[in-house]
Amino acid sequence: MSNSKIVIIGAGLSGSLLAIRLAQRGFLVELHEKRSDMRKVSMSAGRSINLALSDRGINALRLIGMDEFMLDEAIPMTGRMVHGLDGSLMLQPYSGRADEYINSISRGGLNIGLLDKAESYENITIYFDSECINADLDREICQFKKPDGSIVDVAGDLFVGTDGAGSAIRQSYFNQSARLRFSFSQQYLSAGYKELHIPPTENGGFKIEKNALHIWPRGGFMMIGLPNLDGSFTMTLFTDFEGEYGFNAIKTEEDVENYFTKYFPDAYALMPDLKRDYFINPASSLGTIKCYPWQFNGKFLLLGDAAHAVVPFYGQGMNCSFEDCVVFDQCIDQFGDDWQKVLPAVQELRKINADAIADLAVGNYTEMRDLVADPVFIKKRKLETKLEQMYPDYFSKYSMVTFRADLSYSYAQSRGDKQNEVLMKICSQTDDVDSLDTEKIMEMIRQL
Ligand SMILES: Cc1cc2nc3c(=O)[nH]c(=O)nc-3n(C[C@H](O)[C@H](O)[C@H](O)COP(=O)(O)OP(=O)(O)OC[C@H]3O[C@@H](n4cnc5c(N)ncnc54)[C@H](O)[C@@H]3O)c2cc1C
Repeated sequence: MSNSKIVIIGAGLSGSLLAIRLAQRGFLVELHEKRSDMRKVSMSAGRSINLALSDRGINALRLIGMDEFMLDEAIPMTGRMVHGLDGSLMLQPYSGRADEYINSISRGGLNIGLLDKAESYENITIYFDSECINADLDREICQFKKPDGSIVDVAGDLFVGTDGAGSAIRQSYFNQSARLRFSFSQQYLSAGYKELHIPPTENGGFKIEKNALHIWPRGGFMMIGLPNLDGSFTMTLFTDFEGEYGFNAIKTEEDVENYFTKYFPDAYALMPDLKRDYFINPASSLGTIKCYPWQFNGKFLLLGDAAHAVVPFYGQGMNCSFEDCVVFDQCIDQFGDDWQKVLPAVQELRKINADAIADLAVGNYTEMRDLVADPVFIKKRKLETKLEQMYPDYFSKYSMVTFRADLSYSYAQSRGDKQNEVLMKICSQTDDVDSLDTEKIMEMIRQL
């Protein structure tokens, strides 16, 4: 299509996917990754081991022809399996429609699959151990530090920073904040997360329901578990750092045992290595990053977590980052390689939606931690599932965010909030959801 040379910084999830798409369009792509090639070295324990992949992400994988390949490696999760303190189990389906579910997929497997595919294109060159240390906005170059300590200047027609939440490209914008009128905010939650593990059974089976996202809501804190192909579950404890339930209150193996036998007794029985894992794995912080502008001069662009890191409670960070790439691709359809037009268009289309999913994700922490065990909320989910089963035009807020890639996040947010208000009110006034007049409810919903 063009001889434009595009330099992508960060060969994580969105950078690798974007590189593939741009190569498919015929651009010359350089992909720089600060870490060593993950296919050759074992990575240290880092960010989540598995992720929930849903329709927006699948859409992007479809764009590069990798959706089926990736879904073959994923485990469908049809609902939340809520674990009560008394060991009770309750499956809350994600949707009333059988074909709407999310997928647990290995982060490493997904990244490796994308890197393998990227490497198969002659017009992509991947540089590992190549850390961007500066975007020189005036000279229109990026500077990379190589393993021998040398600094290399790289020129290009376009630079895309997909270098994650700690983006060096974003930092370069920040360093010139006044000139760029660059706004930046980073808001931490008081909670953080720690990854733990349920191993498979002796013959490689699953110790708890395979096709669900397991959740132990405890009001103020929670644990979740996502299945892996080998029969294990990656567990994540989300709790405050401080306070009675906080990470800092757990100092000894005895504390771990007391905490888990008190709050997560059924899970504790399935986690033989818990005491070791607990002290090896770090407790990491969680925050939302918003910034603007994302683009500079039609030459530099931030995408993915570099532009909008969100907390993980809607399972949308990667899905949103992948969707950025789809929108970027659509803007190339519209403007070709006229980057002066493409970049502002991407920014305008995505910023409002990135802000929406950031706020939705913070709100969903409360829902997962507290509401999934709340009686009115449980009735509301039951009613929504019924409406989704009966009416093709009803979609809950969760369904719009997760299964309707044709609707924007900001639309899903505003419509979903209005629907929730109506349904929560109805459910707070009845004990018998089954006897509600669904026709009347749908009339109210349609008029929103
Ligand atoms: C606990 C947790 C659970 C999550 N669960 C989900 C989920 O279920 N579903 C979901 O959709 N999302 C989830 N996310 C969010 C998801 O991980 C991110 O949104 C996604 O990884 C963003 O992709 P990215 O490509 O923008 O950034 P990253 O995946 O972070 O990739 C950035 C890449 O850039 C490289 N890099 C960094 N700095 C430089 C530099 N200076 N020079 C060169 N390279 C650099 C990094 O090494 C990395 O390879 C979760 C996040 C966390 C923390």
